[in-house]
Amino acid sequence: VSPRRASQKAGARRRRVPPVRSIPWEELLETLRKLYHEGEAAGDWRSPYLRDHAESPFQVLIGTILSQRTRDETTDVASARLFAAYPTPETLAAAPVSTITKLIRPVGFYPTKAKGIQACARDLVERFGGKVPASMEELLSLPMVGRKTANCTLVFGFGLPAVPVDTHVHRIANRLGAVRTRTPEETEEALMRVIPMDLWIPVNPLLVQHGQNLCRPIGPKCGECPIRAICETGSRWRPPGQRRSSKEPS
Ligand code: SF4
Repeated sequence: VSPRRASQKAGARRRRVPPVRSIPWEELLETLRKLYHEGEAAGDWRSPYLRDHAESPFQVLIGTILSQRTRDETTDVASARLFAAYPTPETLAAAPVSTITKLIRPVGFYPTKAKGIQACARDLVERFGGKVPASMEELLSLPMVGRKTANCTLVFGFGLPAVPVDTHVHRIANRLGAVRTRTPEETEEALMRVIPMDLWIPVNPLLVQHGQNLCRPIGPKCGECPIRAICETGSRWRPPGQRRSSKEPS
């Protein structure tokens, strides 16, 4: 294939990706807030673990590490057991790894996480005087801490503006057409560009809750979704009698 032909093909591929949609974020977040926090069924929806359970930046940080590749319910049980025994960086730093391992046992990769959270607690004690640092750079210097964990700690532990992107946020942002990204890291960067900073804090908890309830990974419930008119995927949804196929958009 000649270089000219290859470049034409690449151009055609690039052109097939539609431009990102401009999303009215304030309206979208307010609609989701009303649905999940004011509606009659507000207490019945599933809700993000961290928003409801975190009592300190330390618990947010360690709870987020435990939650990686683990179901919310499992994180919930393991965190409750761990923090009942070791509620502070000092106590966790001094705990035997074998005991930590037993306490967190249901979570994914528990042997690695047991060593990792103890190392993280030791770092907090030795380098930060037993306090969780409130900056992205310092958080990323801790063992087991990547961007999602650091961002969750900033938002849920300190109430600072950040956009933690997990699989729910990544999936929904792409379904909305707000971003065209392949990885959560790209999504984080893109969302920080398009969402005004004063709206960042509620983005993760509301989109995660939406992903747990209506905008599920498989079979999103677009017919029940109050932000359908804003959403690119939702704009293709048709009531059952008017569908060409019986499948919901994916
Ligand atoms: S309309 Fe469908 S795809 Fe869009 S946010 Fe709602 S549930 Fe998700």
